[in-house]
Amino acid sequence: MGTKTHYDVIIIGGGVVGTAILRALSRLQLKIALLEKQVEIGWGTTKANSGIVHAGFHSTPGTWKAKLCVRGNAMFEQLSDELDVPFWQNGLMMVARTKEEEETLRHYYQQGLENKVTGMEMLDAEATHRLEPNLAPEISLALRAPSGGVVAPFELAMAQAENATANGAQVQTGLRVEDISHTGDEFVITTDDGNTWTSTYLVNSAGLFADEIAKICGLEIEPIIPRKGEEYLFDQSVSDLITHTIFPVPTPKSKGILVIPTAEGNLMIGPTALELPYKDDVTTTAEGLDEIFSFTQKLVPRLNRRDIIASFAGVRAGSPTGDFIFDSSHSGKAIHLRGIESPGLTAAPAIAEHVLKMLAKAGLPQKEKPDFNPRRPKVIRFKELSDAEKEQVIRENPLYAHVVCRCETITEGEIVDAIQRGARTVDGVKFRTRAGMGRCQGGFCTPHIVRILARELGVTPLEITKRGNDSQLLVAEAKEFLKGGKLHD
Ligand SMILES: Cc1cc2nc3c(=O)[nH]c(=O)nc-3n(C[C@H](O)[C@H](O)[C@H](O)COP(=O)(O)OP(=O)(O)OC[C@H]3O[C@@H](n4cnc5c(N)ncnc54)[C@H](O)[C@@H]3O)c2cc1C
Repeated sequence: MGTKTHYDVIIIGGGVVGTAILRALSRLQLKIALLEKQVEIGWGTTKANSGIVHAGFHSTPGTWKAKLCVRGNAMFEQLSDELDVPFWQNGLMMVARTKEEEETLRHYYQQGLENKVTGMEMLDAEATHRLEPNLAPEISLALRAPSGGVVAPFELAMAQAENATANGAQVQTGLRVEDISHTGDEFVITTDDGNTWTSTYLVNSAGLFADEIAKICGLEIEPIIPRKGEEYLFDQSVSDLITHTIFPVPTPKSKGILVIPTAEGNLMIGPTALELPYKDDVTTTAEGLDEIFSFTQKLVPRLNRRDIIASFAGVRAGSPTGDFIFDSSHSGKAIHLRGIESPGLTAAPAIAEHVLKMLAKAGLPQKEKPDFNPRRPKVIRFKELSDAEKEQVIRENPLYAHVVCRCETITEGEIVDAIQRGARTVDGVKFRTRAGMGRCQGGFCTPHIVRILARELGVTPLEITKRGNDSQLLVAEAKEFLKGGKLHD
């Protein structure tokens, strides 16, 4: 397919932003494709962030961040409904404990009003603690924004890609864009398998690597500033401690260290904000944990280190200007998205709208498809069904009677469904279904998931990886063991 089809638009990068643009373009009568270097969609910054749908009071009025965050936030209810993605409008609270912090809070309230954030209110100490009784007693004032929420970011990227594909878009994973040239009226994109792809328009949504792609296209630009953030996840037994996402007053570098109830129902604390020379350092550290834990315990004293079950880190594509950057080249036919740091997840659907406008200005035809279907088929989440519904799905498919991940109650039926929707790796199954995300962190279910993946994909367990490339889980001796044991069919 790589050498034959000419595309109207090719998107580089399958994060939450690239897939939002792909889905928006799939409404139109166009040939479109997305190229992603990782084995699966959403494994860049999209896989490792706080998952907050920001309200918009953090961003300086008049910036792209402010405009696109508030617009993006307003789009989330419909988006999550159409794509059946977990989204919870739990509300955000920025809290103060000193007179100085109270002043800062009032500034953000004013900023939020200017940005047209809806429903904000200032709460005194009593009203704050009535809503969140486990907040530290010293907290004297809170800015509450009920429009804020949390979403499952990886599922959103996956769902956008699935829906775009159902509407005719091509998604190609495992292909790194290595070179781009422009001849006549078309872009010629060379991928690391030696194939070339051609298109009339190009969207560079390569996240941390967008600066490198922009340079290949001839732009002289400031490099992206990688900024790592570590996050720590708690067991679901302490999820009831907090309902709102709790923010301190921000620091000059970030929104500060937060307590976040995730869309999947765990509490999470983080992130740190550490500028690094590398784009791929996703290690977590003892210092990071100490910094985060000691800070958040001052917000919610009942947090206990022993309830932490997992950690991860993501790297922000730090903007050299502090705002999202929309560059273009080749008379507007190539668009380069740079510095899509926070609130990039929130803004993603609004960024897609903006990019479509830029492409229209450069001449991209905007004829709607009469048969565009905005809805992704509903995903069966067994744990959330009523007893009667559970009986019904098991009658239709007995694989739903077999619980594979005991911590999260994820069934074999859900794992097979994830594989049919594109999962190729253990992490691909994990992020689509939550299998392996519970207290035992996959200690029990990983071998079973390897077996199911191998069976469904028609390969040996030895070929199954954790996250593609050379992340094999089994060695040859283990394969022999599996042949004799229960894990091999
Ligand atoms: C710790 C942390 C917390 C955050 N919290 C929030 C939050 O709570 N709310 C919020 O709104 N935002 C948050 N953000 C920001 C948000 O995560 C990002 O803005 C968003 O994920 C950016 O998505 P993207 O699609 O631009 O980038 P990515 O997800 O990085 O996608 C870019 C893709 O391009 C691919 N790619 C790169 N080079 C090539 C190539 N040569 N060929 C092919 N493919 C290529 C990559 O593999 C990657 O998949 C946070 C970020 C971090 C790090």
